[in-house]
Amino acid sequence: MKIIIVLLSLLTIPNLYGQEQRFQGQPPVSAVSTDSKPVQKQWKGQFRFPDQDIIFSNEFDGARLNGIVQNNDSTYTVLVTSENTPINTSSWYAFKVWGKRPKTIDVWLTYQSNNKHRYYPKLSYDGVNWTALDSLQYEEIGRGDKEFGPGSLPEKVKLRLEVGPDTLWVAGQELENSTRVNAWMDSISQKKFVTKSIIGKSREGRNLNLLSIGNTASKNMIMIISRQHPPEVTGYLSMKSFVETLAENTKVAKNFRKEFAIYVIPLMNPDGVDNGFWRHNTGGIDLNRDWANFNQPETTAVKEFMEGLVEKTQGKFYFGIDFHSTWDDIYYTVDPKLYGNMPNLISTWLDRLKKRIKGYDPNIKPNGDLVPTTVSRNYFFVEHGAEALVFEVGDNTPRKFLKEKATIGANELMWIMLERINSKP
Ligand SMILES: [Zn+2]
Repeated sequence: MKIIIVLLSLLTIPNLYGQEQRFQGQPPVSAVSTDSKPVQKQWKGQFRFPDQDIIFSNEFDGARLNGIVQNNDSTYTVLVTSENTPINTSSWYAFKVWGKRPKTIDVWLTYQSNNKHRYYPKLSYDGVNWTALDSLQYEEIGRGDKEFGPGSLPEKVKLRLEVGPDTLWVAGQELENSTRVNAWMDSISQKKFVTKSIIGKSREGRNLNLLSIGNTASKNMIMIISRQHPPEVTGYLSMKSFVETLAENTKVAKNFRKEFAIYVIPLMNPDGVDNGFWRHNTGGIDLNRDWANFNQPETTAVKEFMEGLVEKTQGKFYFGIDFHSTWDDIYYTVDPKLYGNMPNLISTWLDRLKKRIKGYDPNIKPNGDLVPTTVSRNYFFVEHGAEALVFEVGDNTPRKFLKEKATIGANELMWIMLERINSKP
C-alpha cells in the first residue's frame, strides 16, 4: 500500500482562532518545590525483530521510545513513558524504524497510565524535513469529547507505516534537538551584529547558549527565551521567526538594533530536549516553576546573566517574552493595570497584532498574581520591570501562520518600542 503524505502546512487539524470555542487557558500556576528529583532516562539502543527484519531505534538526541512488543507479523505496540511523575500530558515520542524489504506495519503508540496521545505523528527520511502522517494511515481509540486539554485526547493511536531500507523517522513534532538549535544559532550568528556565547551549563553539562543581537552597549534591553518544555516545538519555531525578524535588514530592525540590546536563549532545557523528556530537566523539575527559588542550574544561569547585565550596564529590561506551546494560541500577560518599565507596551502590541492580521482575535489571559515569581514571566516583570508575557502557540497551529504571526509581531513590537524610547524625555 502506498502511503500518501501531505505537507504539514496542509494539515487539516483546524486552526481554532476565530471560532466560537476558545481555549480557556491553564489554571493558575501554584508554587511547588523545585528541589531535584530522580528522572528515568530511556534505555538506548535497537529493538530488533529478526523474523520480520524490522528494527526500531532510539539512538539519537530527542528520541523517546521506552519499549516495544511484537503483536503479530505486522503489528507492534510501543510504550512511551515520561521522565518522572506527576507530569502533565505532553506525551512525547520519537523513534526510527527500518527493515530489509519494503513492508507495511502497524504501530500502536501507548503511554503510561493516565497519559494520552497528544502530538499528531510526523514522518521524515532525514530527521530535518517533516510531513504529517496521512490521516488515512492514522486511527484513534478512546478519544475524549472535550474541546481542549487531556479530555480531548485519544487513549492510544495506530499508525500505519511503510518501512524499508531507508530509515523512517517518526516523531510527535519536528525534531528540533540541541544539534539543530545550535546549527540555527551558528547560522544566525554569521551576521556581524549577532554573537553566540555560553552563559552556563545544564545539569548534564550541555551548554546554555545565548545570542546577543544589536547594540550590546545599550542600556535598553530585551529578553527572549524558549523551550523550557521539550516538546513545545511550535513555540520554538515561533521564537525563531521572531528573532530572525529582529535580525533582518529592514529599516525598523536596523533602528531597533541601534537602540536596543536583544538577548535570546533559544534552548532553556537542552537536557530535557535531547533526552526526549516530556516536560522536566534532568533535575526532574519543571523549569518554569523555578523562577522564585532557583534550585536548577538552567534558571539560575539566566537569573545571574540578567542581574549581572543590569549591574554592568546600569540599564533596564523593557520587555521579556517566553515562548511555549499548548492546546491553542494564547497570550498569558501581566495585568495591564500593573506598570513596568514601559507601561501598556504589551496591550498596545497585541492590539496592533489584531489589526494587522485579518480576522485575528488574540486570546489574552492577563494575570496580576505575580508573587512568588515561580514562572519566567513573573520574574521578568517583578524583578526587572520588564513588560512580560508567555507567548503560547498551539500544538497544531499551521507552521505558515505561526511564522506570519511571529514576523508581524516582531515588526510591530519594534515600531512601538522605538516610538516609546524616542519619545522619552
Ligand atoms: Zn510550556
